[in-house]
Amino acid sequence: MIVYISYILLIICVIVQCNHDVTPKTHVAIVGAGIGGISTAYWLKYYLNDSVAITIYESNQIGGRLKTINIDGDEYEAGGSIIHEKNLYMKRFADELGLEKLNVPKALPYVMTNDGSQTLFSTLHRYIPNLFLVLWRYGLDALRLNFWLGRKLSNFIRIYDYQDNGRIFNNVEEFLQMLDEDFSKATRTSFRKYLFEHGFSKRFIDEIGQLATLVNYDQSVDTINAFPGLVSLMAAGSTLWHVKGGNHLVPKQLLERLLKQSNVQYVNGHVKSVEEVHRIDINDQGGNVRLSYKPVNSELVHSVDYDHIVLAFPLHRDNINDFVLQSTDLFNQYDYRMQSTHSNFLSGKLNCQKYNLTNDECQRLNAIFYTKSSLPYRAVAEQLTVNTNKKSTNQSIYKIFSPEKLSSEDYKQIFDNDKFQLIQDIPWLAYPKYEYPQKLPPIQINKNIFYVNAMEWSASCMEIEAISARNIAMMLTKQLGFELRRSDKHIEF
Ligand SMILES: Cc1cc2nc3c(=O)[nH]c(=O)nc-3n(C[C@H](O)[C@H](O)[C@H](O)COP(=O)(O)OP(=O)(O)OC[C@H]3O[C@@H](n4cnc5c(N)ncnc54)[C@H](O)[C@@H]3O)c2cc1C
Repeated sequence: MIVYISYILLIICVIVQCNHDVTPKTHVAIVGAGIGGISTAYWLKYYLNDSVAITIYESNQIGGRLKTINIDGDEYEAGGSIIHEKNLYMKRFADELGLEKLNVPKALPYVMTNDGSQTLFSTLHRYIPNLFLVLWRYGLDALRLNFWLGRKLSNFIRIYDYQDNGRIFNNVEEFLQMLDEDFSKATRTSFRKYLFEHGFSKRFIDEIGQLATLVNYDQSVDTINAFPGLVSLMAAGSTLWHVKGGNHLVPKQLLERLLKQSNVQYVNGHVKSVEEVHRIDINDQGGNVRLSYKPVNSELVHSVDYDHIVLAFPLHRDNINDFVLQSTDLFNQYDYRMQSTHSNFLSGKLNCQKYNLTNDECQRLNAIFYTKSSLPYRAVAEQLTVNTNKKSTNQSIYKIFSPEKLSSEDYKQIFDNDKFQLIQDIPWLAYPKYEYPQKLPPIQINKNIFYVNAMEWSASCMEIEAISARNIAMMLTKQLGFELRRSDKHIEF
C-alpha cells in the first residue's frame, strides 16, 4: 500500500514539476551592484521567482555611486543624495526594507551669485518671505514654472501605471515618447533654447535654469539638452528626502535580502568581458553569453556562460579598456562620455564679506550657488548628517561640487582666509555628459544582453535606474514566455 501511495505521489510530483520546475530555467548575470543592478535582481525575482538564478558581480563597493563618507563619526552623502517625493520605487524599496525616510529641510538660506563677486539673489532676509523675493525677481516666470512643471511631473509619473500594467518600452526614445512627446523633443535641443521657446525670460534661464543644471549635472543650460534640464528643475520647490543612514542602504539591504532567497549569488570580482557564444550543436545546453571575470585578490580569469547578462554600469569611452563588450554591432562605447565631478569635503568658515552680509546673515548662510559656468566650482553647501539630518555640532562641514580638482587658491575664494581644511576630495565620473541632439544607447544590446544604464542617457538619477531595471525584468520575462504578473500593490501617488 505504502509503495502504491508513493508511486501516485511520484506521478503527481512529476506532473506538477512539468509546469513548475524547481530547478531554475534561466541563469542571469548582473554586472554592477549599484541601485540599477540590485533593483534589476529585485524585479527579476518579483517576476520570475524560482525560474531564475541570478549572479551579481561587483568589482568595488555595493551601492556604486551611492556612498557616504565618515567625518569624525558622522556620515555624509558623497554621491547620490536626494530623492524626489514622487520617486515611488525608491520609496517602495525604503518602505519594504523598513528604512526611515528623512525630508530634506526646505529653504535653507543661500546666496546665488554669478562669479562670487555679485549677489544675484538671496534668501537670507529674516522678514521678507522667500516667495515674495522670488516673485519680485522672476515675476510671472516663477508662478508659471510651478504649474508647468506640475504638468510635466504628472506626465512623468504615468510610468508607474504603465509598468504596473505590464507596458514595456524597447528603447529610451520610446520611454520618453510614451510619457510626453515633448520629453523626446527635449533631448534634441539645448535647455536654454527649450526654456526660451516655452516663454521663460533670459534672467530666469541665466539664473534658475543655470543653477539647476550646474548643481544637478555639472553642465550649463547651453551644453545640456532639455530633458535632464527639466529633471533638474523638478527638484526645485519639491519635497525631497533621503534615507536615514545613507541612500546606499537601499541597494545593500536589498542585496542582503535577495541573498537569503534561493538562487541568488554575489561575486566580488571585476568583469573583464562579455561576449556572445555561438553554439554549433543544437543539443548543446550551455548559455548564450560568456562572462569573463577576475575575482578580487586573484589574477586568474574565470569564464562562465549564462543565458542572459544584464549590464548595470555606464559604458563609455573612459572604461573601454576595463571592460570589453564583444561581437555587438549595435553599440559603440566611444560615442558616450561621462561628466567628471568632484565632491570636496571641507571644514571651515565661509567668506561672507564678499556678499556684504551682516554677522547674523553670515551665521545663517547655508549655501552659495555660482551661475558662471567657467568658474572652477558650482556650489558650496553646509552638510547635514545622514543619521540626524542636522549639522555637526563640533564643526561646519561643507561640500563643494567642482568639475575638476580644486587648488587651495580656489578654496581661498570660498572660505575665510585660511580658515578651512580639506577633509576629502572624491572624484566621480558622475553622470553622462549630455548633449543635443542626445545619442541614446540601446536597452537591449542583443537578444541576450541588456543594458540598465542606457536609460541614464535620458537623465541620471536613482529612480530612472529603478524604472529601467523593472523594464528589463519585464522584457526578459516576456522573452522567456512567462506571463507578466500585474502589480500586487497599487502604488499611490
Ligand atoms: C556626486 C553625485 C551626486 C548625485 N546626486 C544624485 C541625487 O541627488 N539624486 C539622484 O537620484 N541621483 C544622483 N546621482 C546619480 C545617481 O547616483 C546614479 O544615477 C545612480 O546611483 C546610478 O546607479 P547605477 O547602479 O546605475 O550605477 P552605479 O552606482 O555606478 O553602479 C554600477 C556598479 O557597477 C560596478 N562595476 C562597474 N564596472 C564593473 C565591472 N567591469 N565588473 C564588475 N562591476 C563593475 C561599479 O563598481 C558600481 O558599483 C548622483 C551621482 C553623483 C556621482
